[in-house]
Amino acid sequence: MSGEKGRITEITDLPGVGPSTAQKLVEAGFASVEAIAVATPQEIATATGISLPAAAKIVKAAREALDIRFKTAKELKEERLRVRKITTGSKNLDELLGGGVETNTITEFYGEYGTGKTQICHQLSVNVQLPEDKGGLNAKAVYIDTEGTFRWERIEQMAKGVGLDPDAAMEGIYWIRAVNSHHQMAIVDELFDLVKKDNIKLVIVDSLTSHFRAEFPGRENLAMRQQLLNKHLHQLMRLAEIHSIAVVVTNQVMARPDVFYGDPTQAVGGHVVAHAPGVRVYLKKSRGNRRIARVVDAPHLPEGETVFAITEWGIRDPE
Ligand code: ADP
Ligand code: MG
Repeated sequence: MSGEKGRITEITDLPGVGPSTAQKLVEAGFASVEAIAVATPQEIATATGISLPAAAKIVKAAREALDIRFKTAKELKEERLRVRKITTGSKNLDELLGGGVETNTITEFYGEYGTGKTQICHQLSVNVQLPEDKGGLNAKAVYIDTEGTFRWERIEQMAKGVGLDPDAAMEGIYWIRAVNSHHQMAIVDELFDLVKKDNIKLVIVDSLTSHFRAEFPGRENLAMRQQLLNKHLHQLMRLAEIHSIAVVVTNQVMARPDVFYGDPTQAVGGHVVAHAPGVRVYLKKSRGNRRIARVVDAPHLPEGETVFAITEWGIRDPE
């Protein structure tokens, strides 16, 4: 699926997993190689009815496929040094994020309608094209648009705002409309090939969750939705890690905390995303064009809030 030759990426690539075994695994919630690798053979046998020795074989294969092994502290340091950053256009927001939006991980912007999620996505698609000394990566962006809110006019405006040629900046963004959740996931599969052929360093999914919510509404579909979203996030995480890409996703949530925490169906997107590695940024409206951003559970970033503004030219610090 990923296009990485010889790499096991789908559960059906695992030895001993035929179509009927795959179906049992998926139905029990073990839809990805990652999910199997972190399970015990007992858990899988109990949940699927697969025999214990067969389950043990599958788990072993999944762990080998993912190359679960020790890394040295030096390797960790080297991985960390490979991480690069894209400016958001606001110094405040960059500082909150430890210098900008990072490659090799997923950054999620979540908040209610109108908080600037789509504006930030547009701005990053422009800014990734900037030279490195101006906070870019001298690279292109992919914009997966699930709500039809992408505007080339806005790209033109923001490009002018950072001194890029507007036509060149628009050429540097590959836009695609995802028509449903299945399509959305298929696009990410395709990306594993595209990013190798082109200089793409940013992948946007705006929004990550809207199709999944619309197609799997309510509590009765919660398990299925969660499973698919998890699979989607794993795809994106792999894309980010294998190809050193910044993946940015948005997620619309209810503003009222009582609704947000009281009704788990409202929070499911956020909940699923919370379990994926990466950085989560909560956005909130403030006075006029000001927005408040807060980083939520990022162990390597200090807790805190900051204020940025959405201007005619794009994302900036407030006046
Ligand atoms: P979300 O994706 O979180 O629902 P958006 O990113 O679409 O929200 O943000 C919408 C807000 O961005 C609008 O309320 C408006 O304040 C601001 N905005 C959009 N376009 C412009 C523009 N051309 N100039 C100034 N502000 C704009
Ligand atoms: Mg939006």
